[in-house]
Amino acid sequence: MAKQEFSAMRISKNFTLKEFEVSNTAEKLGIDNRVPAKLVPSVKALVDEILQPIRDKVEIPIHISSGYRCKQVNTINHGAASSQHMKGEAADIYIIPMEAKGWTLWDIAKLIVRFTDFDQLIYESRPNGSKWIHVSYTTKRANRHSKLRCKDGKHYYQMEI
Ligand SMILES: [Zn+2]
Repeated sequence: MAKQEFSAMRISKNFTLKEFEVSNTAEKLGIDNRVPAKLVPSVKALVDEILQPIRDKVEIPIHISSGYRCKQVNTINHGAASSQHMKGEAADIYIIPMEAKGWTLWDIAKLIVRFTDFDQLIYESRPNGSKWIHVSYTTKRANRHSKLRCKDGKHYYQMEI
């Protein structure tokens, strides 16, 4: 399969690879942020183990604001140097209130913690009201089940959920 054919690929019932590749930064600067073939299995594992099972439970759209990040995109966005986004192991997800049918993002976080073998979950919110969940999954070692809260992009603390 040619590299450009991957993007339209449906990797599960409700998720495509393209959703992991979209990046405003990449688009604006003309950076190729397609998922390299060797990382596609990692993205698929994240979808199969976390995103699709949760999607099946809530039956509402789960949107990805940032999935894969090539090194350049990660650096420009001030991502952590060892960010799991660069390995295809992490996604930032959100839901849209109009579509949510009563589910909250906090509910989604609780479902991930209760029902999946996640590596790290960070419940992110900002004073302007935006919020999202960073969630990761790895096939390279045991998943850590790390649960963090962050309200400013700088300070992270462990949370119970
Ligand atoms: Zn993230």
